[in-house]
Order: sequence, then structure tokens, then C-alpha cells
Amino acid sequence: MNDYIIKCENLGFTYSDGDDSGSVEIPALRNVSLSVKRGEYLAILGHNGSGKSTLAKLLNMILTPTVGKIYIDGVDVTADDFTEDDVFAIRRKIGMVFQNPDNQLVATVVEEDVAFGPENLGLPREEIRRRVNSSLALVGMQGYSRHAPHKLSGGQKQRVAIAGIIAMKPDVIIFDESTAMLDPLGRREVVEIMERLNREEGITVINITHYMEEAARADRVVVINDGEIALDGTPREVFSKVARLHSMGLEAPQGNELVLLLRAAGCKIDGDSLTEEECVETLYNFISKEKTI
Ligand code: ADP
Ligand code: MG
Repeated sequence: MNDYIIKCENLGFTYSDGDDSGSVEIPALRNVSLSVKRGEYLAILGHNGSGKSTLAKLLNMILTPTVGKIYIDGVDVTADDFTEDDVFAIRRKIGMVFQNPDNQLVATVVEEDVAFGPENLGLPREEIRRRVNSSLALVGMQGYSRHAPHKLSGGQKQRVAIAGIIAMKPDVIIFDESTAMLDPLGRREVVEIMERLNREEGITVINITHYMEEAARADRVVVINDGEIALDGTPREVFSKVARLHSMGLEAPQGNELVLLLRAAGCKIDGDSLTEEECVETLYNFISKEKTI
């Protein structure tokens, strides 16, 4: 078994948009080298148009790189002799959950929707039923198997879409802004599922997001800027580079920004403030200290 489930070397991708008046080349990714360990929980950040979705589509083999190499579980998927069947096998290993839940649900009943992938794999009926039940249970939707997907909330729809991916038993799930269209409750539900899948099921999770608070919860954060990897480290390392993040049109998590602003204003605050809990503790300690002086 390979330690690295994904390995990209000097990856580049350029879109060619052609019409009658000629073709336009749009470079979307340049020189991306990125390795993802099996079982890692990685967040990818970057402003709009920085190339995040292009990278996700390259990893899922929806797109083929213009230059560079991609290895999935040690296999060179960019090799010339890679066949359609091989591509299908890779798509089973690397599932994708997209932004709009409505575009991902195809059936009129929840359980049929979740069964869609395993049915395409040609699995026996009993195995399909087992996978549908266990996948719905994993996302906390076991009571909804006979419900109509279009009547569910955004968060519930997204959970059904995730169940459909889990039912394929992937090694990696890439969430491409999968919480962007959800209300705060739906977002929390989906993030909790990501974390459960990572910790309890050992699935490698890649969360492409523009919510800093979500990224702060990952093991590692990669920032993409104008098609290149700009930062790569633990959330603490990445979010300490506040000026750099600002220069790329990003912010640090709100708690982090708040504590930095207070420090800049002369407050002597010690401690971390990456997560909401840390920020509350840091501010509490600061206020308690002020009171005793
Ligand atoms: P992100 O997901 O970070 O917002 P994308 O990967 O979607 O970024 O886009 C990267 C760049 O590629 C942008 O400049 C975008 O306009 C361009 N792009 C994305 N999809 C296409 C496409 N189908 N045809 C042409 N250009 C595209
Ligand atoms: Mg995108």
C-alpha cells in the first residue's frame, strides 16, 4: 500500500476556449506539486478563479493535465497507456461532492439515489442494499430512505449526495465548495460528516472551501493563488501569515483576525485564537487578567 494516495508533479493545465474568431488559452494551473497522504484531512483555500476546481477535476480525471504527472495510489494515471476502464477505476477511488446539491441528486427517492453508484458497479442486490443502508446511517439520514430528495433541506440533500459517494467505497472524497450553498446548520452537518468519515472511516478528505473556520479544522491547509501553490502547512502555520493571506485576497479565521487587531491596538493578549474555542479562551484569559490589575 502506498503512503501517498495522491501525488502530483509539476502539474499544469490550460483551458483552450475556441470559437470562430480563434482560440483563447486560459492558464489555470502552473507547476503544482502536491502529495496527499492516505488518511489526511486537507483543506484547499484560494480566491475565486485561483484554480481549485481545476485541480479537483484533474484528480478525478474529469480533465487531463496539459503537463505534469499524477499518481493515484502509486499508479501513473497520466501514462499514455491508461485506458477508459482504468479511468473508471480511479473515479471509484476518488469521489467528488460538488457545490450544488440539486445537481447531484438524480432519483426521485433517497435510497435509489444512493444506490445509483453501486448499481453502476454491477454489485449484487444484497450488497447494494447493505451499502445504501450503511451509507445513509453514516450521514445520519437512515430515516429518510423513502423520502423525496427535492423535499429535503440543502444540508440533508448534500448528506444524501455524500452517502451516494460513500456507497462506492472511495479512498478519497473531494468536497468542492460543498458547503457554500448551505445555511450555517447545513454547513455544520456536512463538516461534521467530513470529519467523521476521515477519523472513523479512514477516508482521505480534501475540503476545498472559502470558509477559513472550516480550513482551520483540517490537518493541513494548502493555499492556491493564481494557479500556483502559495502556502502549504498546518492551519496554525498558514493562518499566522496574515499579511500574505490578505495580499492573496484571503483572511485568517475571524477569531485570529480579531486577536491580531486587538494586539495591533496595544492590548497585551497571549494565546492562540485559531478556532472559536481558542479565541473564547484567549479573550476570557485576557479580560480576567485586565480585571485583576
Ligand atoms: P476556482 O475553483 O478556484 O474558483 P477554477 O479552477 O474554476 O477556479 O478556474 C481557474 C481559472 O480557469 C479561472 O481563470 C477560470 O476562469 C478558468 N476556467 C475555469 N473553467 C473554465 C472553462 N471551462 N473554460 C475556460 N476557462 C475556465
Ligand atoms: Mg471552484
